[in-house]
Amino acid sequence: MTDISCEALVVHCMDYRLQKSLNDWLDKNPGAGNYDRVAIAGGVLDIYSVLKQIELAVRVHRIRKVILVNHEDCRAYGPAGTFERHQVDLTEAEHKIHALHMNLIVEKYYLKLDGAFDRVY
Ligand SMILES: [Zn+2]
Repeated sequence: MTDISCEALVVHCMDYRLQKSLNDWLDKNPGAGNYDRVAIAGGVLDIYSVLKQIELAVRVHRIRKVILVNHEDCRAYGPAGTFERHQVDLTEAEHKIHALHMNLIVEKYYLKLDGAFDRVY
C-alpha cells in the first residue's frame, strides 16, 4: 500500500445552511483535496465521536492539523448555543485533542450564517 497523507481534518456541523460557505472557504484553507472532512450535528458537541475520527485521520492520513468549526444558530445546541458556549466547547475540544495528540495544530472557528469565519482563541 502506498503511504498517503493530507494536511488536515475538518470538523463541522451537518447543517445545510453552512455547506456553501464551508466549501468555498475549504477550497482555500487548507485547499481542495488536502483535507479529511467530518460533518456531525453540533460540530464538537459530541467530542468523543470527533476524537475517534481524529485518531483515524492521524493514523491513516498523518494529518498535521485539525480545523474545528462551530456555528451561529446551531440547532443541535438549541438556545444554549451562545457564542460564549461555543468558545468554551471549542477550547475544551482543543484540550482533549492535545491530551491525545500533542503535536497536532488545532484551529478553532465560529462560522456566522452570513458566511464569515471568526477565529476563536
Ligand atoms: Zn449546527
